[in-house]
Amino acid sequence: MTSPPDETHLALLKKVLAGEADGNEKKRFYEIHKKRSLEILEKPLDALFIVSPAQRDLPKKAKIDRSIPCTLCGEPTMAAKMIEKDGLRICRDCNGG
Ligand SMILES: [Zn+2]
Repeated sequence: MTSPPDETHLALLKKVLAGEADGNEKKRFYEIHKKRSLEILEKPLDALFIVSPAQRDLPKKAKIDRSIPCTLCGEPTMAAKMIEKDGLRICRDCNGG
């Protein structure tokens, strides 16, 4: 698992983010930050992750529908996702997102 929180690191982080850290505090923060980052990068994967078989059912197979070009932009869009507006078949982006 990851290292427990470092109170000095957290206190310095708050000061750095608030723009209240002086030069020495910024330097100390980045030293600790780099050290903690390297500790994570150097750990074996099984110390960072729990790997086990998935226990979920797979979702249903996605329905594949033909694409047709949007009347306004020409982007190929799945027909079922198109919007009819003023007699035109348009994509969601052209409908405002
Ligand atoms: Zn469009």
